[in-house]
Amino acid sequence: MKHLCEQITEKRSLRAKERRMDWFDVDDLTWQDWRWQQAKRIRQSDELEKYIVLSADEKQAIAGTSASYRMAITPYYLTLIDPSNPMDPIRRQAVPSLEELHLEDDELVDPLGEEEFSPVPGVTHRYPDRVLLYTTHNCPVYCRHCNRRRKVSMPETMPARDTLSMGVNYIAEHAEVRDVLISGGDPLTFSDNRLEDLIKRLHAIKHLEIIRLATRNPVTLPQRVTPEFVEMLQKYHPIYISTHFNHPAECTQEAAQALRRLADVGCVINNQMVLLKGVNDDPHVVSQMNQWLLRHRCQPYYIFQLDTAEGISHFRTPLASGVNIIKALRGWTSGLAVPHYVVDLPGGGGKVSLQPNYLEDKNASTYLFRNYRGDLFEYKEGS
Ligand code: SF4
Repeated sequence: MKHLCEQITEKRSLRAKERRMDWFDVDDLTWQDWRWQQAKRIRQSDELEKYIVLSADEKQAIAGTSASYRMAITPYYLTLIDPSNPMDPIRRQAVPSLEELHLEDDELVDPLGEEEFSPVPGVTHRYPDRVLLYTTHNCPVYCRHCNRRRKVSMPETMPARDTLSMGVNYIAEHAEVRDVLISGGDPLTFSDNRLEDLIKRLHAIKHLEIIRLATRNPVTLPQRVTPEFVEMLQKYHPIYISTHFNHPAECTQEAAQALRRLADVGCVINNQMVLLKGVNDDPHVVSQMNQWLLRHRCQPYYIFQLDTAEGISHFRTPLASGVNIIKALRGWTSGLAVPHYVVDLPGGGGKVSLQPNYLEDKNASTYLFRNYRGDLFEYKEGS
């Protein structure tokens, strides 16, 4: 008997397929071609209106954000939108809203101080033993909650090949760096050859122990994870994949296939969800998604509290929402499905984790804890 969630996934994939048939007159081979998906991204409101009815506010928002943070939606991701629901979680992540144009006092262009901690262009070195290496400013879908919108969506501003080489050289010259996170934009918008060239050079650095790829392609363009691509990756283990599922509506058969291909060649996959008001600030939503991810060999790793980037505050939740999600998961489902809830501190302070308070009292070396069911238990620590 199939898990209930898998049945829901099948139904969702079926509905998306029906929309695909109605909206796009292409054969399977074309639909599975990631370059076709990338080339046919929906970028203008008159294009988008062919598929979903836009509100006046949405049209104004698309026009108003086009100079600073563009819209792009792959045909695949578009078919996941339920057009009858104005608050659809995929729509909210992909279609601009007017709130993006209202800037708040505490919003920052570069909320994590990534430029300030950049020793050479294209690298952020904030933590002692690991660095971020930026590749491209292109992504299949420009997520409306992106914290790097200061440069993402402007592919013409992406680092040149020389800049990438400076980044690789920096890592080679810094023996303390044992972990690199290749990010962007989305590095999988590079061709396999270009990505392999970069990974190969990093892999050759003796002190670099692991290579991580940050990509939302399994969510927004799962067709990109081809057999050829994963065959290339498996030459450079240990490869870690950090992906970014935010809602069970993204958990489709195509996404499952992308995760399967990555896991089958030995990549270690984790998910970094961003907590978004009205999208996924609900323990049931997170639980459903995390259980699906685990079944597909992707470990829920982080829930990120939303950064204070410009134009995204309408997605920001109280911290209590994240803590309550952890509280609703811990004990009630596999520990593997319980991620770390973290706040990445503005200005480059790094991540701090938050969790429910289970400690009720302390007397000398005896602690009184309340467990996930609300029952009290004592624990005596060692001396
Ligand atoms: S995929 Fe990542 S980098 Fe690209 S728009 Fe979405 S959040 Fe930003």
